[in-house]
Amino acid sequence: MGTKQASQIVWFRNDLRISDHQALDKALENCQPGQEVKALYVYDSEEQEWGHYQVGWLKRSLHALEISLQTLGVKLWVRHGDTTTEVLQFCQEHTAEGIYWHRRYLPKQQTLDKKIKEALNSITCESFSGYLCLEPWHILNKSGLPFKVFTPYWKTLQTKVHVEDFYLNKSHQLASKAHQSKPMQNTCMLEGIPDTWTDELKEKWEPGEVGAQNKLKNFIENWVQKYHISRDRPDWEGTSELSPHLRFGEVSPHRVWADVCANHLGEGVQVFLSELAWRDFGYYVIHHFPSVMDRSFKPAFDHMPWVYDVDKLTSWQQGQTGYPLVDAGMRQLQQTGWMHNRIRMLVASFLTKHLLMDWRHGLAWFKDYLLDHDPASNLSGWQWSAGCGVDAQPYFRIFNPTRQAEKFDPEGDYIEKYVPELKAIPGKLRKEPWSEPGVMRVGQVNYPQPIVEHKESRERALAALKSIQKSSE
Ligand code: FAD
Repeated sequence: MGTKQASQIVWFRNDLRISDHQALDKALENCQPGQEVKALYVYDSEEQEWGHYQVGWLKRSLHALEISLQTLGVKLWVRHGDTTTEVLQFCQEHTAEGIYWHRRYLPKQQTLDKKIKEALNSITCESFSGYLCLEPWHILNKSGLPFKVFTPYWKTLQTKVHVEDFYLNKSHQLASKAHQSKPMQNTCMLEGIPDTWTDELKEKWEPGEVGAQNKLKNFIENWVQKYHISRDRPDWEGTSELSPHLRFGEVSPHRVWADVCANHLGEGVQVFLSELAWRDFGYYVIHHFPSVMDRSFKPAFDHMPWVYDVDKLTSWQQGQTGYPLVDAGMRQLQQTGWMHNRIRMLVASFLTKHLLMDWRHGLAWFKDYLLDHDPASNLSGWQWSAGCGVDAQPYFRIFNPTRQAEKFDPEGDYIEKYVPELKAIPGKLRKEPWSEPGVMRVGQVNYPQPIVEHKESRERALAALKSIQKSSE
């Protein structure tokens, strides 16, 4: 029996791409004649709970990755089971000489990665930065403490991010080093991953690196220059819609940063980059203040008199609150797996303030439905909206759903798209269909009355919020 061929392993996680992939580059670079580079993905539904649609995205993205890797002569193995067991076994079965991955940042992920690194101490084990613009431990304020306010964090981040350090795109040149193309066996076992794709998702999204590049190109060509204006309009398609691609690492944030800056400069680009930095900031806050994973950053909110009302929660989830812009957002989420940022802020404010429900109910629903669900961005979005997070919006700011619709969906087009039963009602009245007597009967409109009254619920929320501010003074 001959000796088994040694290999260099790339462990893919939230980085399902081949461009700008430092771990893949390193494996190819270290691959000696007679060795092979092998790619591994572990599907462990215990370690990572996938959202309803997200798992369908994962399946498609892995398929796309398998095809891209084949162009480099690298095979992808998808293993099912406990992460630690599968990684260790894979390394043993394939006589690994080195294993490479991009870092993850949640405390439990870091613990797991550390444990695996320790268990693999007899081989080369290297981790890289590839998911965030900058590692969370590389930014502190002048006193050496973590920032608690976004703006100074963002100002410092800009001086420290050097995209050219990441923007390597070496894989293609290194490909010739990889073993010459042999016929690929089908090793990528995707069958065990549930298929949760719908026609609507198919129409809107193209999971994988090519889909990510198309979205980026379209955004740069059509929107980035006016992003500071277009980002507030849910009735336009004026944002990048890159969030699920970034979530799965089909494009790196450094590539997005570099490509956007290479083409334009100006207010649109600046505002866009600062939004990209909010994605980093979510992980930054978790890294420095890990208790936010389960608790509000502001301790006063531990005393918030939240109300639990299952009927109202269901109305919110199903887009049946009687507030058209809120309902349009919640239905957009269920139909497309995505929701516009301005509307995410509105529906989150509505749940936590108008309905006075604990932000964790909303967080869980978003986790189930968002294609871009990312634990840090979801957490920071919810805590920001509820007013209980780091640099959150002031507690007394409570969005009025009608005023928001007048400002951001002036013609009522977004509402019409997702709440089509209001189509027969003229654009202006569509935002508040109950306000004109008789209007709900036009065209036999079957749409609920508001489940709460705006002024009353605003006052109730303000009183609750004031009471906890006082008790914490
Ligand atoms: P663009 O406006 O084109 O922005 C470009 C990229 O920057 C986005 O793809 C995203 O990666 C990042 N980004 C933009 N805004 C934010 C922000 N406020 N916070 C963090 N990152 C941002 N985003 C997620 O990716 N996953 C989530 O689970 C998530 N949950 C949210 C929950 C709530 C309650 C709120 C208010 C916001 C949440 N966001 C989340 C942030 C934001 O709504 C989305 O990132 C954005 O709408 C995605 O659309 P886009 O790609 O067109 O964004």
